[in-house]
Parts: sequence; C-alpha cells; structure tokens
Amino acid sequence: MEVERNDFGIFVHRRVSFTEIPSCEIIIFSKYSIHTKCRFCSLHIMTSLKYEAGKFAWLICLAFFLSGCWLGCCIAPCFIKSCKDVIHICPDCSQVIGRYQKL
Ligand SMILES: [Zn+2]
Repeated sequence: MEVERNDFGIFVHRRVSFTEIPSCEIIIFSKYSIHTKCRFCSLHIMTSLKYEAGKFAWLICLAFFLSGCWLGCCIAPCFIKSCKDVIHICPDCSQVIGRYQKL
C-alpha cells in the first residue's frame, strides 16, 4: 500500500502491485528429447519428438536427383529420420515447443 495526496488534498491509499518479469530462457534443441518447462501449459515436461522433412532432406534429394538417381530413389532422404528436422512437442498440450533444423 502506498499513501498519496490527490488533487483535492485528500490522502488516498493506492495499492501497489508488482508484476513478475518473465525470465529470458534460451533453450537449445537437439535431435534428442529434452526436459523443459512448457511455455503454453507451464508444466515441466520431456518433449515428444516428431520428424519432418526439412531443407537438409530436400537438399540431399536434389543431390541424388542431379547425380542420376531420378527413378524415385532420390526421395529416400525424406523417409530417413537422421535426415529430417526434429520438432519438439509438449506431450500434455501438444503445442510445438521448438525445432531442431539440420540446416
Ligand atoms: Zn504444454
């Protein structure tokens, strides 16, 4: 509580509130599941992983295509986990927490 005098000379009690300043946390994502706090549901979680073909997988596809593998085998990197980007998902609220991109 804070006491203050207004324009009419009357003392007024003013409620002082403090807001919590959110901490700036840098999370480095990798190809492995990590333990973190979900910024959507505020629970401490181990992230679930989902794999998605990203720039790296498509670049390898292009390299295979240009080297003569143009009968369909050039898209093989899009089905290999180690070539794909890794998306970290909260198992509780299913929101995307972060992404690990190969490129
Ligand atoms: Zn969550």
